[in-house]
Amino acid sequence: MQHIKYFENCISEFSKLPGIGRKTAMRLALHILKMKPESAKRLALSVVELKEKIKFCVECGSISEDDMCGVCLSNSRDRSVLCVVEEAKDVLVIEQTAHFHGLYHVLGGKISPLDGIAPSDLSFSSLIRRIKEHNVEELIIATNPDADGETTAIYIIRLLADITGLKITKLASGIPIGSLIEYADDFTMMRALENRNIFKG
Ligand SMILES: [Zn+2]
Repeated sequence: MQHIKYFENCISEFSKLPGIGRKTAMRLALHILKMKPESAKRLALSVVELKEKIKFCVECGSISEDDMCGVCLSNSRDRSVLCVVEEAKDVLVIEQTAHFHGLYHVLGGKISPLDGIAPSDLSFSSLIRRIKEHNVEELIIATNPDADGETTAIYIIRLLADITGLKITKLASGIPIGSLIEYADDFTMMRALENRNIFKG
């Protein structure tokens, strides 16, 4: 097949995205080629602006337009409760329920021996620092109910076992085994928060 440089460049970049294989990358590149020029420019600009204007909150790791996110800066949040999640997108799902009033801690992933992700790759040290510095009374574990999420949850429970006065709870299994937090509807997430299981404290 003939090598078409700019088409190949675009396919190569799309292929680097999670869940995008070469066939899908090619379909996306073709789709963009058929787009109106202004639509394609808007798409490109949104990627540039995302990188330039959005950052990760220095405190919790969630996405933010400023150094610190709105949740961390808010005076109306309960600072004694911390909800630990895998990714920033999980914060958005829980926030959507408007049912959780504490703060968050984003790990930046989950422990996954198969993918080569070790505890040292995740933000456990800042989790411990935040719990101690801010006298957190309850930690809610909201990792996903899949194998790696459960491994991460057990790691957290063991890691924090010695912190006195800290209650550790975990989202109830309102979220079906194997399905991800990002796909949970508001009601399921609310129920999972309300019926959380106590592991410590
Ligand atoms: Zn924050």
